[in-house]
Parts: sequence; C-alpha cells; structure tokens
Amino acid sequence: MPTFRSNDGLWKQFKPEELATFEGFIRNPALVSAWYAERRKIIREVVPNAGHHALAHLEACVPRLSLITQNIDGLHQKAGSRHVIELHGNIHRNICMQCRQVSTQEELPSSTMPPQCHCGGLIRPDVVWFGELLPTEAFDAASNAAASCDVFLSVGTSAVVYPAASLPTLAKQHGARLVEVNIERTDLSPYADDCLIGPAGVILPDLIETLKAEWSR
Ligand code: ZN
Repeated sequence: MPTFRSNDGLWKQFKPEELATFEGFIRNPALVSAWYAERRKIIREVVPNAGHHALAHLEACVPRLSLITQNIDGLHQKAGSRHVIELHGNIHRNICMQCRQVSTQEELPSSTMPPQCHCGGLIRPDVVWFGELLPTEAFDAASNAAASCDVFLSVGTSAVVYPAASLPTLAKQHGARLVEVNIERTDLSPYADDCLIGPAGVILPDLIETLKAEWSR
C-alpha cells in the first residue's frame, strides 16, 4: 500500500499532517476528500496476500478467532475473515462526527464543504488520524479478546505503538501463549514464547499447514 512517504507526483507536496489530521481536514476538507478518494481507488484494486488468506483459513479451523488489525484497507474481510476488530477504522467507510451514522458510500458529499450530514454534523473518513485516540469500542473488544485467548499471534508489527502494543502482553499476563511472526526480532520478542522470523505471507500458511497436519493425526 502506498504510504505517505512513497507517494509521487501530486501528493508529494503535502505533509501527512495536512492530509491525515482533524486540523488538516477542517483547514482544507476538499483536499483531504480528494486524497481519500484517490487512496480508496488504489486500495479497491489491491487483492489480499497469502497472509490474509491464511488468517481467514485459520478462523475456519478453530472454535474462535478474533482478528485485531491496525490496517484500514479492509483486506482481511476481502480474504474472508469474519470477526475483524479494526483499531484504526476502515477507509471504505465515512462517519458523521455528531450522530455517528456510518456510511459505506465512499465519496464524501461534495455539495457542501466541509461535508455535512443531514443532522448538521461533519462527515469524515472513518479512520483514526494522527493524534487521535483509538475507538473505545474496538479497543475494548480487542482487550477482551486478548485477555481471554489461549494463543495470541502478533503478526507483522514492530509492537511499539501504544495502546495497541499492550495487547500481546495483556494476553500473556492472562496465561496465553504468545507467538510472534515478524521479519525481524522486535521489543516484543523477549516476552514471546515463540518467535517465527520471516514474512507473514510465508510463515502463516506454513504454520496453518503444520497445525492441520497435527490435528489430523
Ligand atoms: Zn449526522
């Protein structure tokens, strides 16, 4: 997925704080709406990778799986995962800041700028911007899942940004086995029961094949 740093052309001249903060949105809603329209267009073309598919497959094999993600691209759902907790929202949704009505109609209404809901509230992309708190409901659901799981897989994260970084240790404190999957060791590694070093798209399918072989014995 293109990040702020990797964008070429048009968007290069803008700073992340102009495009992905509440202040930036208020200052120039047309600019922020155009940026999100373009990102959505790019993301719609992207397909899930082997890691996404492996996690969807795993959900079908175990009694309960909660997938906690910091991604906003909706690719886990696209791969077939059903129980997804989105800590940073979802780029395919808009939300009214006043009545909290969520809309999957992707383009922000452009007749009024800033875009307005029928209730008079501001409509914005339903994502967590820089400097914003995580949505309480999603974080509570993630904490509950972490505190009650048998196994916690931490996949492809440097595990340093709080509060999301507290989830693996929360799971561990409640007796879960903590398994880290990442391309390199992280600050979480010393606490992990197992560290599987490599890309998620390789490690996860392998892990699931191994589990299935175990279970079928
Ligand atoms: Zn509203």
